[in-house]
Amino acid sequence: MSTTLTRPGTKAPAEYVEQVMALVKAKNPAEPEFHQAVQEVLDSLRLVLQRHPEYKEAKILERITEPERVVMFRVPWFDDHGEIQVNRGFRIEMNSAIGPYKGGLRFHPSVNLGILKFLAFEQVFKNSLTTLPMGGGKGGSDFDPKGKSDNEVMRFCQSFMTELQRHIGPDTDVPAGDIGVGGREIGYLFGQYKRLRNEFTGVLTGKGLAWGGSLIRPEATGYGCVYFAQEMLKTKKDSLEGKICLVSGSGNVSQYTVEKLLDLRAKPVTFSDSDGVMYDPDGIDREKLAFVMELKNARRGRIREYTEKFKKAIFIPTDVKLDHNPLWAIKADCAFPSATQNEINAKDAKTLIDNGITVVAEGANMPSTLEATKLFLEARVLYGPAKAANAGGVATSGLEMAQNSQRMAWTREEVDDKLHKIMIAIHKNCYETAQEYGTPGNLVNGANIGGFLKVANSMLDQGLV
Ligand code: NDP
Repeated sequence: MSTTLTRPGTKAPAEYVEQVMALVKAKNPAEPEFHQAVQEVLDSLRLVLQRHPEYKEAKILERITEPERVVMFRVPWFDDHGEIQVNRGFRIEMNSAIGPYKGGLRFHPSVNLGILKFLAFEQVFKNSLTTLPMGGGKGGSDFDPKGKSDNEVMRFCQSFMTELQRHIGPDTDVPAGDIGVGGREIGYLFGQYKRLRNEFTGVLTGKGLAWGGSLIRPEATGYGCVYFAQEMLKTKKDSLEGKICLVSGSGNVSQYTVEKLLDLRAKPVTFSDSDGVMYDPDGIDREKLAFVMELKNARRGRIREYTEKFKKAIFIPTDVKLDHNPLWAIKADCAFPSATQNEINAKDAKTLIDNGITVVAEGANMPSTLEATKLFLEARVLYGPAKAANAGGVATSGLEMAQNSQRMAWTREEVDDKLHKIMIAIHKNCYETAQEYGTPGNLVNGANIGGFLKVANSMLDQGLV
């Protein structure tokens, strides 16, 4: 007897998925990152649609790939020379089925509508996995904070918030940081929101500790990603102790990934930035990490300077003509891509696999191309996809929201303990869901399906909105 649940006259899951994918491409042309993110999720959902034809009847896939609202606006500001500059601001409010929109703001010259739509789409499933009541959103601007004075950054943030404030609120949409948006930017954004609205609320997360921030929020994405890697290794009765680890980027996520790796006695050996890769064969210890934190967060310098201070380290400058990233050619046990999207292509994945990598835990959003992901899964690498492995950041943002609502502040230990438990729960959900849907060990399917079900069922409950 056939096990298919597809009713007569309805399209088979594979056909339905292809139809939705074609629609997404037609409606959102020239947005390859958005297509990539949708493709990855829809590929996993074939397994769900087989069992649940009701999602197709309610056109859940057509609805979940269409943002509830997109705001795009002009951001004019004066630079230090008194010259007018004009940037473009965005906020994508993707899905609010399970809570207010929640997701970071990215300030980077590469920002465009398609990149933010991919990030907002990923955020919907990630936030669902955290177990907390948060919908998905993302925003930002093509503004580049690099090389700008503090005053320029402040004037930009004030202009950006002057428009954004009418679309957000503590029960509507709660932005946070992402690439190019750290504590300094959140401070300027919060100050302007408070001034315009005359209210002190938890409208942003990643705030300073003295004005409503949560302990552990800066550390959360990196720490969470390492906790997730630890859970993956536990399924093989292994641990991070003594493991050589590659970490890309040198920003917020990378720094705290390295810190937690040191806590767990692993050996991180790399950092990078857009200028190149730094490799320290002796390992990055706490003193060297402190140097990087001061270099990046206070002096806002370049990672190349590490090799001027620590002589055994080498620097490999970025060569845009290369068809691979030399960071992933360094032999190691674990990889923590923590810089940006598509930083691991098929060639990089193949090199990592040939060099015997056992764990890939994604701190950055969608750092692996679809082809690279496929190779990791085929090689049975312990592969933690971004929407699960880096969910600790937004989870702790959710904890910051809870503290703001209660007008309370939890201790460092309390927040870290909750973060750790959430990462264990996310891994368990992904692991068990992958198994339940017939693909044991495939945490991509586990994360996509686990994240989807709660959102899709909430959409069904709430009717056609
Ligand atoms: P930061 O701005 O603090 O750091 C980003 C780092 O990545 C910098 O070292 C930057 O180098 C490097 N980088 C950025 N773009 C590129 C590029 N195109 N090529 C090479 N290097 C690049 O950002 P975060 O650490 O916050 O974010 C890193 C990643 O983690 C992103 O994918 C983000 O979406 C994701 N993430 C962040 C969360 C958070 O809580 N902050 C939560 C979940 C995911 P340079 O300075 O030269 O640009």
